[in-house]
Amino acid sequence: MLNVIKPNKVALITGASRGIGAATALLFAEHGYDICVNYVANDLAAEQIKQQILKLGVNCITVKADVANSSDVERLFSTIDSELGALTVLINNTGILKTQSRLVDMDNERFSQVLNTNVMSCFYCCKQAIKRMSTEYGGFGGNIVNVSSGAAKSGSPNEYIDYAASKGAIDTLTIGLAKEVAGEEIRVNGVRPGMIYTDMHADGGEPARVDRLKTKIPLQRGGSVNEVAEAIYWLASDKSSFSTGTFLDVTGGL
Ligand code: NAP
Repeated sequence: MLNVIKPNKVALITGASRGIGAATALLFAEHGYDICVNYVANDLAAEQIKQQILKLGVNCITVKADVANSSDVERLFSTIDSELGALTVLINNTGILKTQSRLVDMDNERFSQVLNTNVMSCFYCCKQAIKRMSTEYGGFGGNIVNVSSGAAKSGSPNEYIDYAASKGAIDTLTIGLAKEVAGEEIRVNGVRPGMIYTDMHADGGEPARVDRLKTKIPLQRGGSVNEVAEAIYWLASDKSSFSTGTFLDVTGGL
């Protein structure tokens, strides 16, 4: 019988220096994955996560790369090829939002920035990941989890319709791609977090947004980054082996 050597477990988490991405990177490392921590600006935060991951006894690299830029994404994936080996899990986690506003008051530059960072990044990373995971390309299969948002369903009126629409696009991409690569040993799923305590709300101009709105959440509280990371991990693990093109809402019932 041919002796086929299966690769190590290798996970790329985009936007993993802080927030949900950082918690997800740590959780995958706890489960024995070698980790690529991608980020765009915050060198110190990325290095701190890397040091925490290395203490868990797995390999970890940080790659500073703007996932809205296709050349940066190509460099990100070729760095993983040479430093960690074959990718088995991609978590498309990077997402940005801008100051709360009505659509009519948003400038056009903002539309491009939000859609490029939240949507184009996902296209670029999925394309590179499929070339490495797909059995059609000689890969061993893999898992992709896209981090969407409850905003994909609410539409976020008076706050950030651009952000909400970008998450709607992520959901549609997830459904289509899951069907497209289902025969190539790749599953594609999504997680829709609700209001989670992270720095992101400060970018929207309201750092305490979760606490202001938490009484509207059926579970009467905001969510933690670890609660989202657990949902992401489950969808990327063999425990969810018959699920593809599906979504886990981590929204406290909203
Ligand atoms: P966060 O705390 O603001 O962290 C954002 C992360 O993305 C940071 O690691 C940042 O890197 C990185 N990043 C930003 N732009 C990037 C780019 N162009 N290229 C590469 N990395 C980039 O965000 P979060 O709240 O954890 O959100 C993570 C995901 O969950 C997003 O997709 C978000 O839409 C989704 N989500 C969050 C909530 C929530 O309530 N927080 C709710 C629903 C959905 P630097 O540190 O280098 O800046």
